[in-house]
Formats: sequence, C-alpha cells, structure tokens
Amino acid sequence: MSHTAEIIAVGTELLLGNIANTNAQEISQSLSALGINVFWHTVVGDNPARLREALDVARHRADILITTGGLGPTYDDLTKQTICAAFGRKLVFHPEILEDIRASYERNLHTPMPENNAQQAELPEDCTIFDNPVGTAPGCAFQEGSVHVLMLPGPPHEMRTMLRRCAVPYLRALSAEIIVSRDIMTFGLGESFVDQLLHERMSHMENPTLATYAKPCEVRLRATAKAASREEAEAMLAPVVAEVRKTLGDVVYGEDVASLEEVCFALLQKAGRTLATAESCTGGQVAARITALPGVSAVYRGGVVSYWTSVKENVLGVPWELLDAHGPVSEPCARAMAEGARRITGADLAVSVTGVAGPDPDERGVAVGIAYIGLATPEGTFCRPVDAGKRRRDVLQNLIANHALDVLRRYLTGLPVQ
Ligand code: ATP
Ligand code: MG
Repeated sequence: MSHTAEIIAVGTELLLGNIANTNAQEISQSLSALGINVFWHTVVGDNPARLREALDVARHRADILITTGGLGPTYDDLTKQTICAAFGRKLVFHPEILEDIRASYERNLHTPMPENNAQQAELPEDCTIFDNPVGTAPGCAFQEGSVHVLMLPGPPHEMRTMLRRCAVPYLRALSAEIIVSRDIMTFGLGESFVDQLLHERMSHMENPTLATYAKPCEVRLRATAKAASREEAEAMLAPVVAEVRKTLGDVVYGEDVASLEEVCFALLQKAGRTLATAESCTGGQVAARITALPGVSAVYRGGVVSYWTSVKENVLGVPWELLDAHGPVSEPCARAMAEGARRITGADLAVSVTGVAGPDPDERGVAVGIAYIGLATPEGTFCRPVDAGKRRRDVLQNLIANHALDVLRRYLTGLPVQ
C-alpha cells in the first residue's frame, strides 16, 4: 500500500517570509526516496487554533503527518499540546528525559536549566521517542487509527539529524517495499531534447519510473524501482539504465555521481595525470569547484584567473600579436591560455576558459554567451567553441564552467572534445 504524507511546518517566521521553509524541502526529499507521496506542504503560524484546523484537514487527506517546529520550551511552542488535543492523547511527563535535558543544558551552556524546559519532557502517551543528540527537545511519533503523526524540531540541523536517525527508519518500517533509485547524469543536451528521446519510453512506465530534473544543459534522469528486496529492485533498474545510456550515448557522464568535477577528479586519478586551469569569464569557478573536492591536491596543481588581457599576456604568455589579431575571446587565445597554464604549472593537462558572460557584448562585439574552452595536453591542444546564448550572467558562468569540465571529462575518456 502506498502512503501519502503531509508536511506541516509551524512558525510565524515562515509566514512572514523571514525564513524559507527548508525543513519541508528536506523532508520531501527523504520521503520521495522512501516512495512516500507528498501532495501537500502546509505552513501555519504559532497559533493553536489554526494549527488545529490544519491538523483536522491533513488527517483526512494524508496518512502520515509530519510537523516541524514548536517543540521548544517557550510560550509559543504549542505543537505537542495542540496535536495531543486534536488526537485525544494525554501528555505524559518523563522524568528521565528532563534529567537528560538538564544535563545537556548544563554541559553545553554552563548555566542552570530554566524551569520552563520541563514541558519538553512531556510527550504523547504511547509514542516512539526520537532522541535529539544535537539539541534539547526530543521529537516523537505515534499512530492513531491509520494515521501516523511525527513531530520534529524546527532548527534545521536538529530536524535533519532526527530525520535521518529516527524518522526515516520509522517510516521505512511502515512499508514492506524497498525503493532503489539510480541517477543518470548527462551534460550537453537540453531537457526537452532528452524528453523527446525518451518520451515514448517514459510515458508508459509505472515501475520502474523515469523522471528528469534539469539545469541548463545538465539533465539528471532518475530511475526508481519498488520491489520486495533490493536485489529485485536492482534487477528491474538494470535494463532501464542500460537503455537510457544507449539512447543518450556519451552525453552521460556518470551514474550516482554528484558533479562533473567529481568525475574529472576520478578520471585524473585513474590516468595519473595532473591538471591546471586558466580562466577568464568564469573568474575561477572551475578552480573553485575542483578544489572543493577533498583530496584533489593529488591531481590539481593550480590556476590563474586571467581577467585582463595584460594578465593573459604577462602571466600566461599569450602573445600580444595573437590578442591583437583575434581578440581575447577567440579560439587562438583559448589555446594559448591553456598552453601557457600548462607550461607555467608543469601540469600534464591544462584547461582554459575565455568568453563573454554579459550582460553586454565585449568591446570587439563578440556576443554574450560565446566562449572558447582550450585544453592543452601532451598529445596537442584542443578547443571547443561554445555558443551558450543570452542568459543571466551567473547562469552563463556556471554553464561555461560545466563545458570546461566536460571537455576535460571527454578527453580523459578518449572521446572527441567537441
Ligand atoms: P526551539 O527549541 O529552538 O524553540 P522549536 O522546535 O520550537 O525549537 P521553532 O521555535 O519553531 O522550533 O523554530 C526554531 C528555529 O528553527 C526558527 O527560528 C528558525 O530559524 C528555524 N526553523 C523553524 N522552522 C523551520 C522551517 N520549516 N524551515 C527552516 N527553518 C526553520
Ligand atoms: Mg521554539
């Protein structure tokens, strides 16, 4: 049987727009991975009457209610009391929980615990207690008829910890089915193009399912199977993944990987090669993404942000005549930048980026979105011209950085870089 959950976030700050409802986002992601439907996100202020109304509506359209917030010790923290009133449950005081709260309070804050914390040690009768190792208020879950109610704290790191450690296992135990997903990552095709290629297949699928999630030029396909066991789910996924890979070909850069840079790092390690970068319009984004990966110093030597033409000339050694004849946003310049970065760092490979991120064309009239990716290697220098079109500056920078990483990825897997 499939379950339907409703997430009820409690907090006036959310309604006022002071904070975003990131808890609902994170809970939804976990529920989706568990195969639990989410049809409603509700936000309600710190107001018992309106929370009661929200609960009364939710329990009739969902069989799992998950609240966040309002578990704390202050006068506006009314979630537990309101839920217990709505579901006709008594609140029971747990002296041992109060002692835990007192101990952690005094240990961490070095002051005596204020007495109003005592209400955090009250929990609904017959509930499963969710420990809070990173805060004070415990959460809990209980079942009333066919409805499960789970209460999680508001502070995001407390919510996240309790979700992973307690709520997900609790929810997983409600269903006999195992859900397994595989993410197929692609770069180079738009979502509508991917959709066209796979539409026929996707529209008939029920189990496994195939869904697309898109950023510019980067499409993630998620294949998800439900089965009685992990092995069975894996066996159902294998042919779908194989078919998608066959249909999309070498735009697929990985499975269950986080990013292009992660794939490049693994390929560089495997090939035993070092890398350098030279960036203009991406301002160091390629270098920043690479250096965000732990352990990458084994393969990444360094990079230059050569924004001014004089830096391209004086640091990377791009000849003045070349810059004068072709301009800084040109294939010859991209090639010379990559060769210069390779020479000055002594790296095996160097990738370069030069382009126009906008909002205006460059002084030579090169249009926004035009870029050149250079790659200097022991086997010669390669270049991919890119026309990314007119987009917002930050989107273009991200997209052009992706192209640079994709050129590297393709070279390292023996594919043509274009
Ligand atoms: P506390 O013990 O801190 O009072 P609580 O469980 O009572 O915890 P709230 O008082 O409702 O939770 O919220 C505490 C803080 O957590 C808020 O000030 C806000 O910063 C954050 N928070 C609450 N709800 C959310 C939410 N849905 N999404 C993101 N952040 C939230
Ligand atoms: Mg509170």
